Amino acid sequence: MTFTTALRCRECGRQYPIEPLHVCEFCFGPLEVAYDYDAIKVKTSRESIRDGPHTIWRYDALLPVGRESAVDIGAGFTPLLRADRLAREFGLDNVWLKNDAVNPSYSFKDRVVSVAATKAREFGIDTLACSSTGNLAGAVAAHGAKAGMRALVFIPADLERGKIVSAAVYGATVVAVKGTYDEVQRLCSELADTHRWAFVNINMRVYYAEGSKTLGYEVAEQLGWRAPDHAIVPMASGAMITKIHQGFQEFARIGLIAGASTRMHGAQARGCSPIVKAAQAGQTHPKPEIPDTIAKSLAIGNPADGFYAVKVIKDSGGSGVMVEESEVADGIRLLAQTEGIFTETAGGVAVSALKHLVKAGAIGRGESVVVYITGNGFKTIEVVEPGIKPITIEANVESFEENVLATAGR
Ligand SMILES: *Cc1c(COP(=O)(O)O)cnc(C)c1O
Ligand SMILES: [Zn+2]
Repeated sequence: MTFTTALRCRECGRQYPIEPLHVCEFCFGPLEVAYDYDAIKVKTSRESIRDGPHTIWRYDALLPVGRESAVDIGAGFTPLLRADRLAREFGLDNVWLKNDAVNPSYSFKDRVVSVAATKAREFGIDTLACSSTGNLAGAVAAHGAKAGMRALVFIPADLERGKIVSAAVYGATVVAVKGTYDEVQRLCSELADTHRWAFVNINMRVYYAEGSKTLGYEVAEQLGWRAPDHAIVPMASGAMITKIHQGFQEFARIGLIAGASTRMHGAQARGCSPIVKAAQAGQTHPKPEIPDTIAKSLAIGNPADGFYAVKVIKDSGGSGVMVEESEVADGIRLLAQTEGIFTETAGGVAVSALKHLVKAGAIGRGESVVVYITGNGFKTIEVVEPGIKPITIEANVESFEENVLATAGR
């Protein structure tokens, strides 16, 4: 059971049936899912959501597929944690972490792929595919396994080993393309035109993007049914930040929260930051660039939702935040050493973005801030590995005293 009414062009408003479509035939604008919010409002309450499963499927009234047909590996309903030690570092009182590093395939991409895979199976498509900067490949592979669908994932050849292994282990065919993500994406767009495969982030993108709204719903519910004052979100294509914002707005629209005036702050690392640069320069369209960044999960030089991400940042009173390359690993270590959470490079970008926002005076001491930790550090250990070495000793007390106590202190 769903409350979807049509697909609708985000630019000209023309409507289409709910099919594997993604661009408007008239203006080439991207399509999005339209809902009957009046009906959702009648059928949905805080109580009905509370009684739902502890996954993204508790919010299926606001998704294009129902929980009864879900390809479900347990995505979502991840912890929202108070981060008091991190907050103290920055002189803040009210910092929260949305820890999506603990999703089933260890990134927020399980949310979007659950929705896209479910819809693909409903359409009768038997192959799940994607172009990926790493985490999407793992999520597609895992959901393909669960759904009994063939999984075919395309990645840039220079990806971190952890990301390659954690896609291949689920039985997916992993294709390493000699090129940047944007070149991988172009190849996949051509393949999507000639094969009846569900590329989750291309021909299924309309459905895929909806999954990220749950990152807004969950945070609002977990904060006690209110939206935060600030959200800090790492950006690649820019889809997630726009959909988190939409999630807050929808909750307000159907009366589950009193209002949604969250300032949306989007973060990227300097080596690939087209959305941040456009937001900072007051331009509407990001200028494509060739990525050269340690934050490979965010390395999209020509972001599909860049225009909408810039708009959400501007309209919400947020900002684009540029993080230096060296600050990515700093952010990972700071989060690990203050809050006990090991995130990947995207999370390092988000944590260091908080530092920049505080320095710029953008966040008031008592205001609530949610930092989105979207991926897991075990997939990118090479980023923090240099210089890490255990102290090796003989198996006796003398050696311990001599080598450990003498150097590391009592
Ligand atoms: C893909 C990804 C992002 C960016 O998501 P977009 O919707 O493409 O902006 C952020 N963090 C992690 C860990 C990712 O894998
Ligand atoms: Zn159109």
